[in-house]
Amino acid sequence: MAERTFVMAKPDGVGRRLVGEMVRRFESRGLKLVGLKMQVMPKDLAKAHYAEHAEKPFFGELVSFITSGPTVQMVWEGLNAVEAVRKMNGATNCLKAEIGTIRGDFGLSVQNNLVHASDSVETAQREIALYFKQEELWDYAMPDGHWL
Ligand code: UDP
Ligand code: MG
Repeated sequence: MAERTFVMAKPDGVGRRLVGEMVRRFESRGLKLVGLKMQVMPKDLAKAHYAEHAEKPFFGELVSFITSGPTVQMVWEGLNAVEAVRKMNGATNCLKAEIGTIRGDFGLSVQNNLVHASDSVETAQREIALYFKQEELWDYAMPDGHWL
């Protein structure tokens, strides 16, 4: 099933110049970029994004971290895109993330784990709507689309 998933380079991912590396990996995998923007997240948007963690002890620090610098928002489309990107990002704790994943190759921390991705199709729909208007998402054909 063709799906869309929401992916974000966190402030450490941008600050460590890893945005290109992330984009390269998702493109090479065969996913299609259908939305892209950059912003320093306002606190209320950060709280809405991470609402499921509002009661967790790390919530305050997480909101401070995610609003501490520029972030890059992306929407990637492709076959089973949600699961594919979660696997490519790796486990939440970079130390536990497999080598070969973005977090396993470039991170050491739990909080500063470089990249976010939606954990289900429903979450993806909610997260995409938080960051993108319908007219900011692009519908287009790729020349190699039939292979993918
Ligand atoms: N996080 C943290 N401490 C923890 C667990 C998570 O700072 O003990 C941060 C981390 O940046 C993580 C984010 O909170 O990416 C959201 O946590 P979640 O469990 O949803 O992980 P993810 O879906 O990003 O792998
Ligand atoms: Mg999560």
